[in-house]
Amino acid sequence: MIARTMAAALLATALTGVGAAAKPAAKPAKAAKAAAATRTTRPRNIILFLGDAGGIPTLNAGGLMAHDRPQALFIQSMPHIGLSDTSARNRWVTDSAAGMTAIMSGHKTDNGMVGMVPAATAGDAPVAVPSFMEIAQARGLSTGVVTNQPIWDATPAACYAHVPSRKDKDAIFAQMLAPRHGKGVDILIGRGLADANAAFARRGTTAATAFAQAGYRYGSDPALIAQAPRAAVLRDADYAPTPAVEATVRQLARNPKGYVLIVEWDMHTDDPMTGLRHVAELDAMIRRIRAVAGPDTLILFTADHSFGLRMTGGDRGTPLAAQYAAAAAKPGVTNATNPIIGVVDSHTGEEVLAAADGPGAEAVHGFFPNTRLYHVMVEAFGWVATQ
Ligand SMILES: [Zn+2]
Repeated sequence: MIARTMAAALLATALTGVGAAAKPAAKPAKAAKAAAATRTTRPRNIILFLGDAGGIPTLNAGGLMAHDRPQALFIQSMPHIGLSDTSARNRWVTDSAAGMTAIMSGHKTDNGMVGMVPAATAGDAPVAVPSFMEIAQARGLSTGVVTNQPIWDATPAACYAHVPSRKDKDAIFAQMLAPRHGKGVDILIGRGLADANAAFARRGTTAATAFAQAGYRYGSDPALIAQAPRAAVLRDADYAPTPAVEATVRQLARNPKGYVLIVEWDMHTDDPMTGLRHVAELDAMIRRIRAVAGPDTLILFTADHSFGLRMTGGDRGTPLAAQYAAAAAKPGVTNATNPIIGVVDSHTGEEVLAAADGPGAEAVHGFFPNTRLYHVMVEAFGWVATQ
């Protein structure tokens, strides 16, 4: 049913034209009328914030840790929400590679694959599927990828690379600088500096030389972003997230055709306090960027998969972080057995939140597969699906 509605909407888009300036046909078909009634304006830009492993239990605990009151996160104020199935093509519990590939390409794939799906015939090589970001590049939009993880890791890589195995770091770096569409990603910020140096050394060059040859202003200081429309910031240390993303938005916004920005913020809670701190960090960033990006920007938040964190205790009226720390300090208490917040598994298979605000946000509602988010983004721009 969802697929049929989607097809009708895409067809309506094809009939009525593409882009913000499109005028409805004189006698629109029923489907076009319905589409026009639910969407009066299109976004110029789309920013997708991806909380890696940011399932609902993690968002809940992270919000309470930071604010000591329920539903205080900005994410929890976003007006349009849905629940996204994250299962991979071959497993009920996805990894980041298959999870982000589904969101970016509209195709479920096998765990470990980045921007590719298995061939229809067993034994044939996997097939590359275009990412939403590459389609945006082909259409002349500016693009950015920002992460607090290595820039070659599966989630950011699914924006720009196509490899059968997420472990193929060298191929991912090579494809980062050899885009299939347009000029590739304009702004790259992430960790993985030592990895980049090692990968390019194996090709007989240096990361600095390779990025410069590909037209990037290259370095480790996020301040570079304000200085050049094409910049790559690689480092191995953390950085202040919100100023870096704000500078990225201001730089990308110089393109009158618009931009697509993907921000990945890791919130795996193998180390519970770090993961939960990242929830508050990303949430504050989204709140700020919502204000900076302007009303013609569709803001999306989702997670690629959930994680085995459960909140099982805590009294109201006392800071939750202190209660957690006190419990953790008791002899024999582990991350798994902490009576306030326990982390007992790795990735888990339940649906994750998808939240949206801005033009096109109303398409996010109900239960849907993670591949739907690709179509939400394509439709928001008024583009016809290419696959
Ligand atoms: Zn992940």
